[in-house]
Amino acid sequence: MTRGAVVEFRNVSRHYGAVVAVAGCDLRVEAGEFFTLLGPSGSGKTTLLNMLAGFIEPSGGAILIDGVDVTSIPTEKRNIGMVFQNYSLFPHMNVGQNVAFPLKMRRAEKATVRKRVDAALELVGLGAFRDRMPNQLSGGQRQRVAIARAIVFEPKVLLMDEPLGALDLKLRERMQMEIRQYRDQIGCTVIYVTHDQGEALTLSDRIVIMNEGRPVQIGDPEAIYDRPATRFAAEFIGETNILSLLPKPDAGWWIEELGAPFAGSVPAASGRGALLSVRPEKIMRADAVGAGPAVRFDAVVAEIVFSGDIHRYTARCAGGKTVSFKEHRTGRGDALKPGDKVALAFRLEAAVPLPES
Ligand code: ADP
Ligand code: MG
Repeated sequence: MTRGAVVEFRNVSRHYGAVVAVAGCDLRVEAGEFFTLLGPSGSGKTTLLNMLAGFIEPSGGAILIDGVDVTSIPTEKRNIGMVFQNYSLFPHMNVGQNVAFPLKMRRAEKATVRKRVDAALELVGLGAFRDRMPNQLSGGQRQRVAIARAIVFEPKVLLMDEPLGALDLKLRERMQMEIRQYRDQIGCTVIYVTHDQGEALTLSDRIVIMNEGRPVQIGDPEAIYDRPATRFAAEFIGETNILSLLPKPDAGWWIEELGAPFAGSVPAASGRGALLSVRPEKIMRADAVGAGPAVRFDAVVAEIVFSGDIHRYTARCAGGKTVSFKEHRTGRGDALKPGDKVALAFRLEAAVPLPES
């Protein structure tokens, strides 16, 4: 087991002509951390990884590994393992040869190669596949080989760029669990790229949400989900209702769309108004909200979607806006129907005020 390295991006940027792929990024990834770059396509995730790996040069700033500036050190001296979406196994080499390749490049001794390849294949459960060719493997198996090849030389940092992107949903979920297990055994720092928020929440110690080449929010999965810092973060992670808070003429706040008062605290900077993010699972029937401060409002059910264990509803509120909410099915035949009037509520702490944006 290797110890991971600390990775730092200091004011790193990358331009392509007028396109700003990465804009002044400051990030610090701790040793042994599973750190995920999450963001929509084009937000600069791959560019950041490629600069860390040394495949492309930053336009500005510095990249440090364990405190050493590696910005102008060639790729092969950075000791970083990489896994890409499109497997990129050598098609003419069998599984064992693919995994041995990085060690041969490093001129490792034969006995070491044998031992490390065995251990890496064992880790990913492919001990019996050493002689297979890549085209004789399933997508999941190929990606396990790619992982074995990336860790066989015991790098301190492992980069994974949408490694499960080409797999179907079931396999992707299984591989997520496997990656978590590998990671616990390997102990190196993992920097993982995905545009799939569920994957990021499942795997990560911490997540950075990227948008337009910049970090928007950094935090552990629960903080990212429960306390989004911006509208973009709130909408990118999971589903949410964005509501407008307006100051009441006398004092306090008013939720425009619901026609209901809001007694929670609002960031000081948002004097003229703010936005509120409320997750659909936090909105419930008013009689279920319990004691304590809550926002209550009336609505008319507009639409129901059945999705297995839950019902998803949209309901039209007094202010004309629809909100979405979810309920676990009770099986007691008390599901709502379109046109039903319903008293709804959410607890005050379920509402996250966002800076006006
Ligand atoms: P992501 O991995 O988050 O989808 P990328 O890092 O691949 O995003 O790309 C970020 C931005 O930089 C995009 O607008 C993309 O079009 C642009 N870009 C990336 N590589 C190049 C390139 N070689 N030439 C020009 N533009 C590029
Ligand atoms: Mg990418």
